[in-house]
Amino acid sequence: MDIIESTGGRAAAPVGRFLTGRKVLVTGAASGIGRACARAFAEAGAHVYVVDLAGDAAKAVAEEIGGTAHVVDLSDPEAVDTLPDDADVVVNNAGLQYVAPIHDFPVERFALIQRVMVEAPFRIVRRTLPHMYERGWGRIVNISSVHGLRASAFKSAYVTAKHALEGFSKVAALEGAPHGVTSNCVNPGYVRTPLVEDQIAGQAAAHGIPADEVVERIMLDRTAIKRLIEPAEVAQAALFLCGPHAGFITGASIPLDGGWTAR
Ligand code: NAD
Repeated sequence: MDIIESTGGRAAAPVGRFLTGRKVLVTGAASGIGRACARAFAEAGAHVYVVDLAGDAAKAVAEEIGGTAHVVDLSDPEAVDTLPDDADVVVNNAGLQYVAPIHDFPVERFALIQRVMVEAPFRIVRRTLPHMYERGWGRIVNISSVHGLRASAFKSAYVTAKHALEGFSKVAALEGAPHGVTSNCVNPGYVRTPLVEDQIAGQAAAHGIPADEVVERIMLDRTAIKRLIEPAEVAQAALFLCGPHAGFITGASIPLDGGWTAR
């Protein structure tokens, strides 16, 4: 049974190290949002499987938080099937972006993005659900995007993959519910990570304008709150979904988008 602590009217705070004894698999955990999740889940007491293609960076994160590095290319289905199958929490986070109009979009790049951002989450959840079902508890957190809820031109592979992840998350929610397993998405707008820093640099060069103007004029055009969100803020939302007050939240998609989807 979940423990709901009395907070005396104050905002509910997660109970310290509430993931002690749990194993958490985070993909793309060597950088950006994934690294912030790895740190946050470790602080909550979990042992973290730090999964990433970037070996040195993954090992550095694992060493920092006392986790285990798994250096795997998630675009390789056979390699994905070597990952641990005993995670209590899966955070499907690894992702990549490619920007081009559909008529010029490289076919292999489109397929790669689906393999990393759709097929790998499916394979990882498929492998870990039996363990979660056996224990009667599990949490799946899918790092989707505002682009899981809205489209942008020139991002066909990414928007397709994120919409697919949204659908998969809901099916996992329905199947997992009788077994104590929840599945949810979080949907950030632009987050201050290398994935976005690269886009800022690229757009600045393409448009011949300074980087801060790219952020203000292009990236924050659709958000009401005019700043990028930080990786640690996304990690705290992911952690909340695995916490003692979130057991009834499943099949949901939680926008962290500064009001983008309010329009
Ligand atoms: P990032 O580039 O900082 O980190 C992504 C990590 O995924 C990297 O460490 C990379 O090595 C790893 N990765 C990529 N391809 C891989 C593969 N084939 N196998 C194993 N690892 C692989 O990116 P980020 O901004 O932290 O993005 C993380 C997630 O958050 C992505 O799913 C992204 O779509 C999503 N997201 C990001 C933003 C944003 O603005 N940065 C917004 C919404 C959603």
